[in-house]
Amino acid sequence: MIIEALSVFPDVFDAYMHASILGRAQREEIFEFHSYDLRDWTYDRHRSVDDEPYGGGAGMLMKVEPIVHAVESIQQARSMPARTIFFTPAGTPFSQREAERLAGYERLLFVCGRYEGIDERAFELVADECISLGDYVLTGGELAAMVVSDAVVRLLPGALGDAQSSLDESFSASLSHGLLEYAQYTRPASFRGHEVPEVLRSGDHARIKRWRRENSLERTLRFRPDLLECAHLSHEELAFLET
Ligand code: SAM
Repeated sequence: MIIEALSVFPDVFDAYMHASILGRAQREEIFEFHSYDLRDWTYDRHRSVDDEPYGGGAGMLMKVEPIVHAVESIQQARSMPARTIFFTPAGTPFSQREAERLAGYERLLFVCGRYEGIDERAFELVADECISLGDYVLTGGELAAMVVSDAVVRLLPGALGDAQSSLDESFSASLSHGLLEYAQYTRPASFRGHEVPEVLRSGDHARIKRWRRENSLERTLRFRPDLLECAHLSHEELAFLET
């Protein structure tokens, strides 16, 4: 997969996109990441990417021409078309399901807004879709691009060392299509009177599997009951939740 980001701060991606799992995935050529400076598509002396909004109001807005020219030129630089995604609070809320969908594309191009946002015509002309990270306002789309890249890349085959790691995670299809993950523990078995559940130390895999399933249901009911509405639960699991 190729992930590209267009930004007025193209350097902010450097550390994160090259560290840990994302860094290793790039070295192993599971994906490649490139960021582009939007100012490279400006043609005035000040390399302006923003201007005052028509109709007045506070702040500056990102201009349409640099974004449209940049997206067109980045698209044309490779034969494989990129899915062009703009970050905006007005976009589709990001979720694990959205990450799974995006992991199916070979090339993603993220457009990161700044200031008071982007001239609407840029969306109309070059956006394939818009994504929101949630119901709050960030200063720019760069964090959103890194969050989405992270969630997508770890789903790519080989990105995580242990192929099982992304399977039983919160919101994954293997957890009844959207439950929270069960509680996890590591050594020591006892700390300040808090014990690791006996079942997890029993070596009895059938019991461990059942405990994890029930714990996952309990935690979802306690912390995120809204997720249960969309989960695919068996009769047995529904009966467990009613007890
Ligand atoms: N004036 C805009 C509004 O009220 O919707 C907010 C603009 S915000 C300060 C600047 C940029 O940050 C946006 O263009 C977008 O790229 C990014 N951004 C801010 N909040 C975001 C969110 N919740 N999800 C995705 N991107 C966001």
